[in-house]
Amino acid sequence: MKLIYILGFSALLISCGKYEVTNPPSAKVKKPKNIILLIGDGTGLSQVSAAQFYKKEPVNYERFPIVGLIKVSSSDELIPDSAAAATAFASGKKTANGVIGMDTEYNSLETIIDLISKKGMHSGLIATSSITHATPACFYAHVKNRNSAEDIAAFLPESDIDYFAASGLKYFNNRKDGKNLITQFELNDFVIDTLHLNPHSGAKKIGYLLARKDMPTMLEGRGNFLPDATEMAMKFLSHDNKGFFLMAEGSQIDWGGHDNQADYLISELIDFDNTLGVVLDFAKHDGETLVVVTADHETGGFSLGYQNGDYNTIVPSFSTTHHTGAMVPVFAFGPGAENFGGIYENTEIFEKLKALIQD
Ligand code: MG
Ligand code: ZN
Repeated sequence: MKLIYILGFSALLISCGKYEVTNPPSAKVKKPKNIILLIGDGTGLSQVSAAQFYKKEPVNYERFPIVGLIKVSSSDELIPDSAAAATAFASGKKTANGVIGMDTEYNSLETIIDLISKKGMHSGLIATSSITHATPACFYAHVKNRNSAEDIAAFLPESDIDYFAASGLKYFNNRKDGKNLITQFELNDFVIDTLHLNPHSGAKKIGYLLARKDMPTMLEGRGNFLPDATEMAMKFLSHDNKGFFLMAEGSQIDWGGHDNQADYLISELIDFDNTLGVVLDFAKHDGETLVVVTADHETGGFSLGYQNGDYNTIVPSFSTTHHTGAMVPVFAFGPGAENFGGIYENTEIFEKLKALIQD
């Protein structure tokens, strides 16, 4: 029988009929110490392209050496929502739209946070929405319906998350069941800050809940929350060198698409691109951090068409106020990045990350 060893790099196949291969295949792949997954909600190729036309500074998307594409469908629909898509990223399973961290039979799924926590690594979540919103929720909660924000919130104090920054305070301290989950956080070693991104030296775990429900938009003056919270997270999570997983989401790129407001979309996209810059600077300096950037789906059928026959003037437009089924790009940098080229299912993001978690 002829054995074929795949050496991790997609194009490199060695037939053993001729050569002896003694190392196990994985020995050739350098595994990252830290993994940072950045999700631009609703960010298709036209959204990414808009950075090139509307951002005045250099575009950080262009700094990634590896680019791939993912197919975005959910378990039973061609066009996904953020819940099904983030479940695919966090747990590697296709599920129905609206479902958070559960399979199609409503069994709770193991997440990448569970996997890295077992290795003694740290973890963090950042969003420009409520921390209970579908994308971040899939990394720590297991509920049938994404709209059950208070049920989702109840999972967070009990989770293995060490750092989070987002909004959604009311789902923790102004609940229908009367519970105050801030107390629960404090019992589980969290310092909770509801005012600013202040550093809290000596804190074992930190959570920032900086607005009652939603975060302000960039146009309303959110400022540097996303890049700053991400920079603080990388510093906090790397303090003891055990390695970390961090997910940071540009949540409102999607909302600009739903609203068919190009200014809203583009300002959120530029904020997300600035965050990519902060992360790439860290990863480049650190040398042991894998950075993967992708999207759950495209929103708005966003396009960059011309105006009145003038091919030199771009006028952004939309074809829907909902999501679309187009493939979305994946960008990767750092150890293991080469695994992220090509065309594959969204669930493969989880599988590829899982294979790269340190032994
Ligand atoms: Mg989202
Ligand atoms: Zn959406």
